[in-house]
Amino acid sequence: MTTAYPPEIQRIVDRVAPGWPEELEVRTGWYPLLARLDERLAANAPNYVLQQCKSKFGALCFYAEPSDEPWSYDEAFNEAIRAAEWESVERCEECGAATALQYVFSLWVSTLCAEHAAAVSPSVDESSRKPE
Ligand SMILES: [Zn+2]
Repeated sequence: MTTAYPPEIQRIVDRVAPGWPEELEVRTGWYPLLARLDERLAANAPNYVLQQCKSKFGALCFYAEPSDEPWSYDEAFNEAIRAAEWESVERCEECGAATALQYVFSLWVSTLCAEHAAAVSPSVDESSRKPE
């Protein structure tokens, strides 16, 4: 399956390391967040390599290394990723609204604004909110 990504997201897909699927398992609401993260990372580590980018329990999981050198580690690089992962838990996965909460639908945690949560499930209410 081929997915057409906007250019700023395709740049990230192009960094996927050999052996990993060339796709981002996130919805479009997180694209602006990812584009900003990519700019920060690329400024710091122009040859950074991505292993995987996905949504897990309603949070962004971005697995990347500053370069393809084994054991490369860079504090600022990891800080930028952590900041984006923290930001993602408040960003609607559909539209990027910063007022999102986490919902559980069919055992899958999604981070959504009220509007998109209602679109997924008209019966959404406080009871489907993820317990703290
Ligand atoms: Zn939304």
